[in-house]
Amino acid sequence: MAVYCNSCGTGLPHTARFCSNCGANIPVAPQMPARSLYRPLGGRVIAGVCIGLSQTYGWDVALVRIFTVLGFCFSGGLVAIAYLACWIGIPEEPLGIPGAYPPGI
Ligand SMILES: [Zn+2]
Repeated sequence: MAVYCNSCGTGLPHTARFCSNCGANIPVAPQMPARSLYRPLGGRVIAGVCIGLSQTYGWDVALVRIFTVLGFCFSGGLVAIAYLACWIGIPEEPLGIPGAYPPGI
């Protein structure tokens, strides 16, 4: 996911707005089409919140789970509340081909 300067070709971090080599303006890269947030039916441990978030935002599911468990222990319940909110608020994966968008109706 590297960004390259259009003027000099220097590789830049994807957050760069200006080339660090020549100072050219870096156009904001078009966002990836957002994968709709849902809790997958496969691969879930409790409610599928962690794997759903990790798949949607491209995070490592193991790290998400580790931070979630740490958060359960050390956040004084904030992460537990957030997890429950996600459990309630994030819809389950629609039935169909796993990982695919639901077919048009
Ligand atoms: Zn440049």
